[in-house]
Amino acid sequence: MRILVVEDERKVGRALETGLAAEGFEVTLAQTGEEGFYLANAQTFDLLVLDVMLPGHDGLEILATLRKRGVQSPVLLLTARDALEDRVLGRDAGADDYLVKPFAFVELLARIRALLRRGRLDQVIKLKLADLELDLVLRRAMRGGQLLPLTVREFDLLEYLLRNQGHVVSREMLARDVWKEGDRVGSFDNVVDVHVGRLRKKLDEPFRLRLLHTVRGLGFLLSEQP
Ligand code: CA
Repeated sequence: MRILVVEDERKVGRALETGLAAEGFEVTLAQTGEEGFYLANAQTFDLLVLDVMLPGHDGLEILATLRKRGVQSPVLLLTARDALEDRVLGRDAGADDYLVKPFAFVELLARIRALLRRGRLDQVIKLKLADLELDLVLRRAMRGGQLLPLTVREFDLLEYLLRNQGHVVSREMLARDVWKEGDRVGSFDNVVDVHVGRLRKKLDEPFRLRLLHTVRGLGFLLSEQP
């Protein structure tokens, strides 16, 4: 079970990391909003613990972005005492539960276990952007209600771009993370370009709105806006 903890207070973050690891969870700790935002979007976690008050992207912003993308992993918010507004906003943004600081670790653990039990019953893993929807369980890509006939590699490529939607993805990142060709960077650019070209044909050509953009000199961007 992978848990992402986004907490800028060093002591609290470390305590959560150590405590949850001791309970057998695989814990990733992010200590800034930016780092948390990036990790939450780039990787898959079974559960997220988000502090609301963070420098940079705050917890609610991270949560709202994840839910907009269709990520359904349970989210537990950590809020300040009496910050009722945060809890209301959190619920609206798609939080599953919240805990008021300061809290006892056993209480956090109980909440996490309850959320993970609940999550397993109705786990649907889908990634979304505009009218594009990727079902990671069925490995099926739909756009505007039409099934996209993607190869295995094209699906993996699209999944990676969707996880990083709104951010430029370089050819090096694709070679390393999709093709697992970390050492052949550079000579691999043509292979990446050919596959991106094929994916674009299936993903964008039949539709009015372009989603896959080339950013000259940098790489590719999956976004509703060019
Ligand atoms: Ca904080």
